[in-house]
Amino acid sequence: MTRSPTIAVDSSKAGLIVAAHGRRGILQTADGNRLPYLVRGRKLRVCCGDRVAYNITDSGDPALITAIEPRQNELQRLATHGVAAESVAANLSHLLVVLAPLPVPDFYLTDRYLCAARLMDARSALVWNKSDLAAGPADRLAVYEQLDYPVLAVSAATGEGVSGLRDWIGTGTAVLVGQSGVGKSSLMNALVPHVEVATAELSTSSQEGRHTTTAAVLHPLPDGGKLLDTPGVRDFVPAIPEQRMISRGFVEIDEFGRQCRFNDCSHLRETDCAVQDAVAGGDIDPGRYESYRRLMNLIRQADRGY
Ligand code: GDP
Ligand code: ZN
Repeated sequence: MTRSPTIAVDSSKAGLIVAAHGRRGILQTADGNRLPYLVRGRKLRVCCGDRVAYNITDSGDPALITAIEPRQNELQRLATHGVAAESVAANLSHLLVVLAPLPVPDFYLTDRYLCAARLMDARSALVWNKSDLAAGPADRLAVYEQLDYPVLAVSAATGEGVSGLRDWIGTGTAVLVGQSGVGKSSLMNALVPHVEVATAELSTSSQEGRHTTTAAVLHPLPDGGKLLDTPGVRDFVPAIPEQRMISRGFVEIDEFGRQCRFNDCSHLRETDCAVQDAVAGGDIDPGRYESYRRLMNLIRQADRGY
């Protein structure tokens, strides 16, 4: 076999990981081309959304990743049945929680997504999909609007509101989350035409073996934004790392909590707790507080290994 001559040794360049599986995947170069890459050694672990430096040593060979830029955040998939939480993507800026008339909205799950997003420093919005079938529950959605979460009514079926979704994402890097059946795949298709094909192409070309699935792929949006797809597992819950961080994920509990008597107040049963007072006084929505309580109990149990 003839090998092409070695070229441009040590031409370190910047790229964005758009598909990742194990040590291989696809990166996007600064001028928009896509290259297969390889990570050597065990020290570097890249995931989708990582900004990296790479070298091309031999034309025709995959690009070699030499460094990963520090991540602004990581989207972690929830640990299940003894499987540790795993990083699905890095550097996400926008999280869209999709709701619909059916399946019946689960606002506890919604609050859990919003909490994870705030802990990641990602902006989030509620997307009321299937608005062609029914309008959203105005009282419930108003609670979120008052907390400055945009509520975007859309229909993947008619296309209504889809351009507003694109506008909101802008040049950011976004992920759609929500219960199974709310229309995430349909919205993904409305935002990225033929998304299934594009995802399949990206994941196949990034695979080392035939029986592996790619953890995530990033699709370009027409306005310069990007949309994350997680093939095979579009229904997932982002992990919340530690119980003591949960209050920071609830914007209003974070704010009222600064006036509590104890610095490390859990806002569950302490005296002189500004959060419990705000719930009693109607300044914090009881449903949101209940989500906080449930999440605190859940993560505490998880900490104990239940
Ligand atoms: P996912 O599980 O969240 O990915 O949901 P899907 O995209 O698979 O959609 C679930 C079902 O809802 C499918 O039967 C879709 O055709 C339907 N659906 C999705 N979006 C809309 C919409 O905007 N309006 C209506 N009427 N149906 C929708
Ligand atoms: Zn408190």
